[in-house]
Amino acid sequence: TQAVPFANEAFVDFTKEENRAAMQAALNKVKSELGQTYPLHIGTETIVTEQLITSINPGNTGEVIGYVSKADQSLAEKAMQTALTTFETWKKVPAAERAQYLFKAASLMRERKFEFSAWMVLEAGKNWAEADADTAEAIDFMEFYAREAIRLSENNEHMPLTPVAGEENRLSYIPLGVGVVIPPWNFPLAITVGMTTAAVVSGNTVLLKPASTTPVIAHQFMALMEEVGLPAGVINYIPGSGAEVGDYLTTHPKTRFISFTGSKEVGLRINKLASETAPGQIWIKRIIAEMGGKDGIVVDETADLEAAAQAIVASAFGFQGQKCSAGSRAFIVESVYDEMLGKIQALTEQLQVGLPEENFTTGPVIDEGSYNKILDYIEIGKSEGRLLTGGDKAEGNGYYIQPTVFADVHGRARMMQEEIFGPVLAIGKAKDWQEAIALYNDTEFGLTGAFFSTDEDRIAEALNNMHCGNLYVNRKCTGALVGAHPFGGFNMSGTDSKAGGYDYLLLFTQAKLTSRKK
Ligand code: GLU
Repeated sequence: TQAVPFANEAFVDFTKEENRAAMQAALNKVKSELGQTYPLHIGTETIVTEQLITSINPGNTGEVIGYVSKADQSLAEKAMQTALTTFETWKKVPAAERAQYLFKAASLMRERKFEFSAWMVLEAGKNWAEADADTAEAIDFMEFYAREAIRLSENNEHMPLTPVAGEENRLSYIPLGVGVVIPPWNFPLAITVGMTTAAVVSGNTVLLKPASTTPVIAHQFMALMEEVGLPAGVINYIPGSGAEVGDYLTTHPKTRFISFTGSKEVGLRINKLASETAPGQIWIKRIIAEMGGKDGIVVDETADLEAAAQAIVASAFGFQGQKCSAGSRAFIVESVYDEMLGKIQALTEQLQVGLPEENFTTGPVIDEGSYNKILDYIEIGKSEGRLLTGGDKAEGNGYYIQPTVFADVHGRARMMQEEIFGPVLAIGKAKDWQEAIALYNDTEFGLTGAFFSTDEDRIAEALNNMHCGNLYVNRKCTGALVGAHPFGGFNMSGTDSKAGGYDYLLLFTQAKLTSRKK
């Protein structure tokens, strides 16, 4: 497989009847499998705990997706010991061999992609296309990191050494040790798979603590890795609470690295806890943190306004705004401001809210906590801006909120500064394109952004001046593709670890130089 150059997995075309039928069949199959109990996986053992996490469908809260076992500190410790022992053998497995597990898993996931997507429709509240994109990205991550592990192990081209007469020099990338992987619920397959497989294909062993709202889809991935024969103990699946299991492992002396994707608050807490040296600890823990965003789109008067409005609405409301790449802000120059507001309002009002399995564009938000927090922000928005559309909860037996747009929001308003992680867009007026860029940059985050213009000089300046990790021109600011758009941000958005890029595996390795006299 690795001989074939990496290419992105194509998205499913749901306008085709056969694909709609396949998705419906997968949803029916998954529905017949709901409500099962899932064990922890620690080495060769599967353990069903007394305390269980109940995972529900956020779009139909009476529906249980599954019951998932919950690790406590002693089970976390057992997993740590297993991962430590397994590391001693796994680190010696050649990279090309480690990569084969990823290739196999990618190919099985491709065969069953509708089923993986269906789990996400039901457990995370994604519509069909969003779930399919998530599955495609998971496949991409495995295909990409498998090739990367081989490339890093095979040659020194990426880091050529200066030749010295009479010496044979080599730089090899060796694994770090046991890593704690804490993925988010918003890309419950793609990011879980990407973070975990990057770590293991580099030769590390992993303690995987999935998000408590989407542990069943993470379990499907765990089961897939077992099916392809990944040795027991390389990935240990241990759902649990952040306060109990997360903190315990973050402060553990044997934890070598922590790979986290989630909120700024949790990321900073992990960073702080991990910076303390525990007794017996002989390294500085490495932190790979992808945190929040307050991403935005800037539109000038030369832009294709229809395209800009579509991009703003897609970026703000795709998966209900629950992407760290979500375009939750827009800055529009005065001369086209009112026209743009009209277009944005009209497009937003076309979004239909309803059950994800019926493929409504806009589904629920993830849980009650998010629901309440977003509704609180909407109330704040009513005092900070002019409500253009939405502004309330929406009907349905789940956590539904109307896609909400506020206009005339000041750059320093809370709506413009704090990550809401929901279907709420704040729009600000700028006197010209330079002021719009300055407003865009006035944030502690720096993940994604987009600039809409047809003026080449302005585009060139925007490319230089908009300060974010993923900057797009004349397109939406969500939907980064593995390999094409390495993803990660600046400042409070995290450690700028570029997922899906050529530098990513270096974060899970350390470079060893060997120099031999000839
Ligand atoms: N990579 C995704 C995108 O470009 C966002 C990932 C995230 O929300 O964490 O839209």
